Amino acid sequence: MNHRHLLPNEIDLLVDGEAGFGVAPLRAHVAECDDCRERLDDARIVVDALEALPHFSPDSRFADRVMAQVPVFIPAHVAARDSVARWVPQSPAARLAAAVAGTSMAGVLTLALVWLAMRGDAVLFVGGLLGDRLRAAVASAVRDLAVALLGDSAIAALQATGPLGASLLLVGFVIAAAGTLAGIRRLATASARRS
Ligand SMILES: [Zn+2]
Repeated sequence: MNHRHLLPNEIDLLVDGEAGFGVAPLRAHVAECDDCRERLDDARIVVDALEALPHFSPDSRFADRVMAQVPVFIPAHVAARDSVARWVPQSPAARLAAAVAGTSMAGVLTLALVWLAMRGDAVLFVGGLLGDRLRAAVASAVRDLAVALLGDSAIAALQATGPLGASLLLVGFVIAAAGTLAGIRRLATASARRS
């Protein structure tokens, strides 16, 4: 007997029927050592019993049911970033087109609103073709929309300052659009890095 007793992981190797460089001396030891042969037989009995047990597997919806009850905290800025990222197209060309389209749409909308808010009489003139009631409804709807988007005091200030106020608003819009574009670019690089 030229070998120490087997370690638990060496018994596992023999139970699993591993064949390798280190296994032959283990087998030689087991052939000579009653203690280790007994431990190996016990281990085989346990493994056979485990094999004979019925195999259970969880329901396929188990993970969903558990996770439905786990409160997963998503920070607001992560949720906002993810929902924006879902709307950002994948290819760079489509992303650029979407950014240009969105920015110019917002620009046209803003300019149209500012113009309409400052030229209420022009709206009324166009509306003259449409009849009194509709004209009043359109004028007040445009005003309400402008007030809702820009704020009551902004409209008042705009009408007070005239062209200067409009230019200031335009500058503000350009800054906001540039900020939006920069944000979209950062989102794009972030999602590209993640995938
Ligand atoms: Zn032994």
